[in-house]
Amino acid sequence: MTLLQNPHDTGPAPEPVADPVAARTYALDRAHVFHSWSAQASLDPMVISRAAGCHVWDGDGRRYLDLSSQQVNTNIGHQHPAVVEAIVEQARTLCTIAPPYANAARSEAARLVAEVAPEGLDKVFFTNGGADANEFAVRMARLHTGRHKVLAQYRSYHGGTSTAINLTGDPRRWPNDQGSAGVVHFFGPFLYRSAFHASSEEEECSRALEHLDQLIRFEGPSTIAAIVLETVPGTAGVMPPPPGYLAGVRELCDRHGIVFIADEVMAGFGRTGRWFAVEHYDVVPDLITFAKGVNSGYVPLGGVLLSAAVAATFDERPFPGGLTYSGHPLACAAAVATIETMREERIVENAARVGAEVLGPGLRELAGRHPVVGEVRGLGVFWALELVADRTTREPLAPYAGTHPAMAEVTAAAKAAGVIPFVTANRLHVVPPCTITDDEVREGLRALDTALSAVDRYARA
Ligand code: PLP
Repeated sequence: MTLLQNPHDTGPAPEPVADPVAARTYALDRAHVFHSWSAQASLDPMVISRAAGCHVWDGDGRRYLDLSSQQVNTNIGHQHPAVVEAIVEQARTLCTIAPPYANAARSEAARLVAEVAPEGLDKVFFTNGGADANEFAVRMARLHTGRHKVLAQYRSYHGGTSTAINLTGDPRRWPNDQGSAGVVHFFGPFLYRSAFHASSEEEECSRALEHLDQLIRFEGPSTIAAIVLETVPGTAGVMPPPPGYLAGVRELCDRHGIVFIADEVMAGFGRTGRWFAVEHYDVVPDLITFAKGVNSGYVPLGGVLLSAAVAATFDERPFPGGLTYSGHPLACAAAVATIETMREERIVENAARVGAEVLGPGLRELAGRHPVVGEVRGLGVFWALELVADRTTREPLAPYAGTHPAMAEVTAAAKAAGVIPFVTANRLHVVPPCTITDDEVREGLRALDTALSAVDRYARA
């Protein structure tokens, strides 16, 4: 067996070793690579030359603690040897095979995904990522119900493809919105910026449910195929719903024959300290979409978990959808190794413990000392710091859909202090791999302390 570096043992920071091709990599990127979600001219991408566990190294050989898990996907950490070996082994055996054939990697991956999923979701349709998982989940719901309309939340992200971006409730939808094709948005619970003038979680929960109930009645229950929501909205700000909210959504769906789709692309596979975030709330959706953490993105993979009732719709009637790479063997082999290793190394349990005992308390302690932090929210290894210009009025440091120089400053200060945060709108998201150790959390908290000090002056005391 090849000797691979233990990703949990990155040791003391080694002397920086510059990547000899870093300058060429950067020049070719700027000449030929067209990047997502960006004005191309002003881009200055960091070259990443290697990665292990919770760390990445840039082209100059500088080491950073990855508090972003890239796009919140490397739940098992970077370059885990068990997953790397599984991909290599699968590549030697069978690199690719078309969806109509059964293959061992896909069968095992489907079995394991169903095994860690809530009871009753037993079939898996594999996709290439999260957006297409949501595309197909909506298609399944529309065909299952014979209805067209879909309700989705403001403050959400569901992916960059056509249906998924129309479901999305953030400014990235605006330039892509072609009249939303049957999608209607509603407000979910978010006490810190309550749309319902609520002053407690209980009030926020009951008013958010009342709002959804009313929206369903006014849209016409018999026209609504599905309600789609992120179990814990992620990119929009890591907002765990109050107790009772998801059970209320489940009840509304049951009452009106609406399919409940939980998007767990970001929240799933350990991020919240459970395999799926719905476990915290004791609800079982009809469909769950997943991607990212299923194999930590080592090879692109996503999918839809189906209830028996939705799956049965397509027992005799063909499902009109598919992808050349559905259940790709390399991606599925990576998923099998990821799930087995996460079980063996108790990585989901680690995420729960670290969040409750080290990361959550540490972030709250930082918030107590930094006036620029308005609120800390999260669970497991899924946290957001809401940065504000004024703690009393809760005025965000950057306006909705806007920017503020302080956000670039805090990002640069975090990198200078040796960490990569996930920065979006007026927030720093702290979303490290589920494998993070207590010492690494403390390393991250020290760097965030330095970074926040650089922008405290923007907050009115
Ligand atoms: N759904 C959620 C909740 C996400 O966070 C994302 C990506 O960040 C997606 C869907 C889209 O996934 P992908 O980028 O793999 O298409």
